[in-house]
Amino acid sequence: MEKTNMNFRKKGLIGVISLAIILIGGFTMYQQLYKTASPTEPTEATSPATAFSHLSYYHEGNLERYNAYQEENQEMSVEDIVTHVNMGIDKEFYSEDPITVEDPDALTVLVNKVYAFPDNWEPTDLVVVDDFRGQSLRKEAAEAFQAFNAACNEQGFSIYVHSGYRSASFQQEIYDNMINTYGEEYTDKYISRPHQSEHQTGLSVDVSIDGMDYNDLASNPYYSWFYDHLADFGFILRYPENKEALTGYHYESWHIRYIGKEESRKVLDSGLTYDEYMARQ
Ligand SMILES: [Zn+2]
Repeated sequence: MEKTNMNFRKKGLIGVISLAIILIGGFTMYQQLYKTASPTEPTEATSPATAFSHLSYYHEGNLERYNAYQEENQEMSVEDIVTHVNMGIDKEFYSEDPITVEDPDALTVLVNKVYAFPDNWEPTDLVVVDDFRGQSLRKEAAEAFQAFNAACNEQGFSIYVHSGYRSASFQQEIYDNMINTYGEEYTDKYISRPHQSEHQTGLSVDVSIDGMDYNDLASNPYYSWFYDHLADFGFILRYPENKEALTGYHYESWHIRYIGKEESRKVLDSGLTYDEYMARQ
């Protein structure tokens, strides 16, 4: 009885040990399988660092375009690569439908050959700034221009609004006339398409000094004082010299844009065109 009992116990013990070995073996195998299957890379939540992602104005959605643009411009700095793609100038001007601006009422609104006003937008706070010419600007820009003119008067000269606000329909007329006379290529170089004109902002002025033709503005003896004090009154020169590839327009010494004193100072300090500056916000 005892012997049988012992045998039974032995058999039981062997069974338990065998079971333990199977279990341990199985667990080890499972562990090894799990190890090879588990990913060691970061999960989707944290995207991998790129050559551009340290920049505050990097947009992950543009990554493919940054890479493609860098491929074509290998000497260009990463700052410029990201800025230009954000601006949309990795594509040819007017090669795609314009992007509608989100906040057309903002004093800092950017319209150019890439960005356009919504179809029926017009400013609601226009005031006549030049009775003689019948030119209008948005109220804040008009007041800033008058304050600027008062400061110019103290220097012995006056500034005038040769051309201020233009509606989209008026811009359409100008554009169509130019197309009929000079064709599309020439027109697109010098004249904005409707809904994409800075003059529709009601914040832009083609300036003339005293009686001088605005085209010759830069040769006026007072021009350097005028230019040096633009930012003090919230204005910037919108189309600086040698920046055609960035702004889409030739140098216009006469075309100034109101963006407010704080912003105009920042743009001036950045040394960038307004288009580049906005692409870095
Ligand atoms: Zn202009």
